[in-house]
Amino acid sequence: MSVLSVTNLQKNFGKLKVLKDISFQINDGEIVTIIGSSGSGKSTLLRCMNQLEKVTKGTIEINGHTLVSMNGDTPEYASKEVQKKILMETGFVFQNFNLFPHYSVLRNVMEAPVQVAGIPKEEAREKAFGLLRKLGLEEKADAYPCELSGGQSQRVSIARALALEPKILFFDEPTSALDPELTGEVLKVIKSLADLNMTMVIVTHEMAFAKEISDRVIFMDQGVIVEDAAPEDVFNSANERTREFLGKYH
Ligand code: ADP
Ligand code: MG
Repeated sequence: MSVLSVTNLQKNFGKLKVLKDISFQINDGEIVTIIGSSGSGKSTLLRCMNQLEKVTKGTIEINGHTLVSMNGDTPEYASKEVQKKILMETGFVFQNFNLFPHYSVLRNVMEAPVQVAGIPKEEAREKAFGLLRKLGLEEKADAYPCELSGGQSQRVSIARALALEPKILFFDEPTSALDPELTGEVLKVIKSLADLNMTMVIVTHEMAFAKEISDRVIFMDQGVIVEDAAPEDVFNSANERTREFLGKYH
């Protein structure tokens, strides 16, 4: 079953065509990494899933809900209610953590369940503790984001993304803001989610990690999908654009 289906997606910023007819599907339990040069449109693609950007054209279905479909030449978005439902069923982890600086770690994780999903505070707190425990952050529950290392901050933002039990998790370069010695602890957490069969879409520049964790690798270049295949096929591709991009990592 497909958890995410994107069909003929286009996104323009004025005259700049950033996404040019993107189509792909993510199946239940699948882990797909997206690789590609800076400026190729990876973040914009994820921001369309997160409703931070409106599409210019195309269809997006997430977990059986149609977020946007085409009415002739015009994109038609789902009702606010359905949009909120979709947001509650998807988790996002960004490069720069985006934690609420004036909230404790625990409150950062509890906030969406309480405020968005209306889960009773005590229940949300229990669950948040459980998640922090799982991610080795139990002792940091009362700390504030400024008291955390980058790796810990990113693990908190993963806990927060998991708090609403999403059907799919999106990561946008989760380790790009981290020192190399902290990258490992975050990649380890993502791998542990893979073991739990979490459906994940991960934008990354960590090629060894992508090779290891992915069921499929999507290579984007200048707003189009050049490759969408098993990691061994992408990393051994004969395609000139793919080879040139991957060549920069050797
Ligand atoms: P990537 O994440 O692959 O580095 P982005 O999706 O961030 O690429 O950006 C793709 C292109 O879209 C870039 O040329 C960028 O400058 C442009 N872009 C992104 N966001 C905006 C915006 N809000 N307004 C105008 N141009 C944008
Ligand atoms: Mg980006």
